[in-house]
Amino acid sequence: MAASCIFCKIIKGDIPSMKIFESEKVLAFLDINPLSSGHALVIPKHHGAKLTDIPDDQLSELLPVAARIARAAGADQYNILQNNGKMAHQVVDHVHFHYIPKPNEQEGLGISWPQQ
Ligand code: C5P
Repeated sequence: MAASCIFCKIIKGDIPSMKIFESEKVLAFLDINPLSSGHALVIPKHHGAKLTDIPDDQLSELLPVAARIARAAGADQYNILQNNGKMAHQVVDHVHFHYIPKPNEQEGLGISWPQQ
């Protein structure tokens, strides 16, 4: 745990989140600023900024959880994304995998694009 880390605070319950999965080593919750409906984050409970900071036994549980979320949602089209470092667009320095479902045609894009 890192005292100043926002995701560690979410793990501890000091900051509320919409939890969708929790186990001894993993937490998944809905992204507060979703790129599409159902955008979720899967994080290890072990604090580490980058993929290379996380022990294998924690890392190995993350992608199966992302797959479970996609399966449970019945998702067919989605991105799994993980950023490391500012140049790679990482904003929160606690490892997280994004699960970003692609909207179907009925739902539209779910995000705003600049108007022409
Ligand atoms: O990969 P990156 O670090 O850029 O993404 C961080 C993600 O964490 C963002 O999608 C942001 O909306 C999300 N976030 C969140 N809850 C917070 C703070 C950030 O879901 N309290």
